Amino acid sequence: MCGIVGYIGNQNATPILFNGLKRLEYRGYDSAGIATIDSNGISIKKSEGRLCNLIQIASSECGNIGIGHTRWATHGCPDAKNAHPHLSQSGAFAIVHNGIIENYAELKSFLSIRGFTFVSDTDSEVIAHLLDYYYDGDVIEAILATSSRLVGSYALGIICRDDHRLFAIKKDSPLVVGLSKSEAYIASDMQALTDKTRDFYILDSGEIAIISIVGGLPKIRVMNTRGKTIQKDTYRAEAEGETADKGDYPHFMLKEIYEQPAAIERTLKAQLNAPLPFLSNIGGMHIIGCGSAYHAALMGKYVIEALTGMRVNADIASEFRYRNPRLQSSDLLLAISQSGETADTIGACLVAQNKCKTACIVNVPESSLTHIASPMYTYAGSEVAVATTKGFTTQLLNLYVITLRLLQKRGDIRAKLLQDELTALPFAIAKALELEGQIKNLSPIVASHETAYFIGRGADYASAKESALKLKEISYIHADCYPAGELKHGTISLIEKGSVVVAIATDQALLDKTVSNIIEVKARGAFVIGISCFDISHVCDKLISIPQAQYTSPILASVAAQLLAYHVALARGCDIDKPRNLAKSVTVE
Ligand code: GLU
Repeated sequence: MCGIVGYIGNQNATPILFNGLKRLEYRGYDSAGIATIDSNGISIKKSEGRLCNLIQIASSECGNIGIGHTRWATHGCPDAKNAHPHLSQSGAFAIVHNGIIENYAELKSFLSIRGFTFVSDTDSEVIAHLLDYYYDGDVIEAILATSSRLVGSYALGIICRDDHRLFAIKKDSPLVVGLSKSEAYIASDMQALTDKTRDFYILDSGEIAIISIVGGLPKIRVMNTRGKTIQKDTYRAEAEGETADKGDYPHFMLKEIYEQPAAIERTLKAQLNAPLPFLSNIGGMHIIGCGSAYHAALMGKYVIEALTGMRVNADIASEFRYRNPRLQSSDLLLAISQSGETADTIGACLVAQNKCKTACIVNVPESSLTHIASPMYTYAGSEVAVATTKGFTTQLLNLYVITLRLLQKRGDIRAKLLQDELTALPFAIAKALELEGQIKNLSPIVASHETAYFIGRGADYASAKESALKLKEISYIHADCYPAGELKHGTISLIEKGSVVVAIATDQALLDKTVSNIIEVKARGAFVIGISCFDISHVCDKLISIPQAQYTSPILASVAAQLLAYHVALARGCDIDKPRNLAKSVTVE
């Protein structure tokens, strides 16, 4: 979601800002802008839509200090006037903001009464004017006074016409400072800068970075909101791994679907024998996440509960955090987030902190969640497509590894069977990927509908939920998902001749029940696509036959459904890697 980049050094800031923003493009945005300081003061250029629109109008901007932004609108429609940066009324300050200022309405009237006029509909513009209001020649004082008035979440990049420094402040939204030999940068995500530097300061909430160039060298001072200097260590990021390059694939999503066998193998290799101290002496588990990560949590609940008998609750993070959940000191709160920056998941984790153990499954090292809960990393590599694929299946893998560890602790003989199956999983996924041709052939049937229904039981229900979400996200087909036994309690009234129903059935114990539910919708004219490791062709119009597996077949079903969503979206001509309105890492509530 929304990106911030800032630069200070001896080069022209504009191409460096464009480069950083391009590297953040995958996160999803709706408009973009930059501000630089030149001899006439602050110059701002902004535009609606893709970054290429901005580059067209802003390439001749120059200055050695600048800030840039890709916006994911929360307050005010996604147009050029609402795009960031925002300029203060006097023209002294420009700011870029990620997050939400919750008391913006109150601040807006406070400032309006004092003669400030607003040109945008955003919550963020109040920050620029507040800086003006408090500014009497000392930028740091103005920033401290301004931040004391803000309620909500923010990562801010700030420049001042009268000052040759770059300023950054963070509360809850991610922000890092990168240093190279003679230059410094800020960004909302290290990935924006890893082609420039590997040395970072990761700001914590309530920290302000003041960055300058002294004698040709970058200098950074970090202080808290009381103005006290803080000593911070730098973090050295891993060298750039897989580049943001599609290779021979037409879309990142397809490339990432095909990277799953390798990603699963890498993750398994790292986790199979890794110590997982957060699992010792736990009596129950709450697994939380948002979107696909919630579906991983749900599958984790079914699998862990079924195999180990442990009490497991799966919850949507944004609900969990505000429903006053009952937590016992022997519980484990396991938070799942690909980016490790999901605001609701972090919020839910903070609710559990000090009440029970907390751990997290994340893909991005040193992301915010890893600082508040014990990390169990996935090794999916960087995921560029907004719709997650390898991010999701590696999360599932870690949940299966947790299951395995719990079984091993009890000396359960099924541990050996599960371990063998996990070891073979990359091959099974590679086999499932061979279904692409068949799936592509049936995709026009789904593509011609505006609604599809997904059903499954047990862990297949979690897989069906993720499959429906995948289809919705990238093809804009309304996809509704139900436990197979639940459809007849209401939604079956919508089934008519030709309605598309995708049924996932991989659990032998529940197979007859699911088949009955398939027959129920067929009786009402539904066109049924089955995804199964059993021969249920007699009740399906089309059957996608996935490889046999005893424990992990819901993962294989998810892979087949990813290919289905991909080909349906392709048939509908959708922007697969950057679906409308979506952001990759959701850093606002
Ligand atoms: N809330 C701000 C806006 O709507 C910032 C959005 C963002 O984080 O991109 O402009």
